[in-house]
Amino acid sequence: MTDSSKIPSFDLTRNYARVKEEINVAVLRVLETQHFILGNEVEALERELAAYLEVKNTVGCASGTDALVLAMMALDLKPGDEVITTPFTFFATASCITRCGGKPVFADVDPVTYNISSEDIMAKLTPRTRAVLPVHLFGQMCPLEEIRDELKSRGIAIVEDCAQAIGAHRMIDGRVARSGSVGTMGCFSFFPTKNLGCYGDGGMVSIPKDEALAQRIKSLRVHGATTTYFHEEVGINSRLDALQAAILRVRLRHLEGWNEERRIVAERYMLLMAEKGLLDLVTPPAELAGGRHVYHQYVVRAKRRDELQSFLDARGVTTRVYYPLPLHLQHCFSYLGGKKGDFPVSEMLADEVLALPMFPELLPEEQERVVNEIADFYASRG
Ligand SMILES: *Cc1c(COP(=O)(O)O)cnc(C)c1O
Repeated sequence: MTDSSKIPSFDLTRNYARVKEEINVAVLRVLETQHFILGNEVEALERELAAYLEVKNTVGCASGTDALVLAMMALDLKPGDEVITTPFTFFATASCITRCGGKPVFADVDPVTYNISSEDIMAKLTPRTRAVLPVHLFGQMCPLEEIRDELKSRGIAIVEDCAQAIGAHRMIDGRVARSGSVGTMGCFSFFPTKNLGCYGDGGMVSIPKDEALAQRIKSLRVHGATTTYFHEEVGINSRLDALQAAILRVRLRHLEGWNEERRIVAERYMLLMAEKGLLDLVTPPAELAGGRHVYHQYVVRAKRRDELQSFLDARGVTTRVYYPLPLHLQHCFSYLGGKKGDFPVSEMLADEVLALPMFPELLPEEQERVVNEIADFYASRG
């Protein structure tokens, strides 16, 4: 790796090189069967994922967005029903609510974890609250144990957005509880860059306990049919295909190792930034006690973020901003009446966050270069 080469924010080709033989065998196996939609391969994946998450059922679907839509459909939202979620997330977290006729109600996030604040969730509850939709942002689980029992006693569902946090966990009641196993449902994305990605679009809903709910989601993903051509209700077409399932079965076997490697990358960033005396200028992400962060992204808060990002770009280091505009300020949600100042923590983060390159195969010398360039920026222009 020479000094002039570019450092990408992620590099899937390096990952493919590590599993190429296994993947190619799996893909050829599916091609021989010529069975492409749902079927044995998808069912096997669903069983393996259920075992991994320690949940009763998982249901594969076409994307993480669809997983969220299917979960919202299964709640049977009536006009005016409210779903509490975070404004500091990917768009799909809130659009699934409006697409299913519900009203998103935002609760601000915690400045340390960037995750939705349990306190603000409780403050936003009304008699119309049907569900809470927390996002385990950047790979770290929300401390759902703080609100789970109270919400359950009020009959409010928890739908976890696990798109960025497969394999993350919290210790709850002395046991490892993985993301997607704590709420009523969990929604996962297999978008290629997620910690468990496929080679196209894919998603999944986990249903930890409720067997009837799992059957309902299975039916909703095939146009609401219970048997072919007999429709109990109007669903959508959102299936996982066999090629993606076969690829995911290979990659699931490596997930724990890759998540561990992400954690090592995160730790090394932290040490390098401390060594360079950067911790007054750049705030590294924090891991909440009692949980395991899987670092889908390594997101710091940085002084003079925009200038830093352009500087790094000019030096060949690619960074990203997740997310530049909180959802309450998005044009499409202006009818909800959100305005600047409503969610000060989310708005502050939108101005300060910067995602540094993060993927399991990122080299120590590349990380050193990233941190050296950050140090250069603050030394020359700070
Ligand atoms: C990626 C992502 C989604 C959507 O997943 P797709 O598979 O791209 O549809 C939803 N929520 C969050 C938080 C995400 O990061």
